[in-house]
Amino acid sequence: MVSCPTCGNRVAWAPESTYRPFCSDRCRLIDLGAWANEEYSVPAETPPDDLEDMIHGELPPR
Ligand SMILES: [Zn+2]
Repeated sequence: MVSCPTCGNRVAWAPESTYRPFCSDRCRLIDLGAWANEEYSVPAETPPDDLEDMIHGELPPR
């Protein structure tokens, strides 16, 4: 089992989990979109740690 990087849901690390480590295509796209938006809107001076904290800090309860 792994945790979805976007929403934190548990995801079975198995062939049928198509979007692992994400729980769904939606979460996968959200994560990819977050990175893309950062690249386009923020100069490269933003440390990756901040981005990760922001993503994890803004997770909805579920
Ligand atoms: Zn998810």
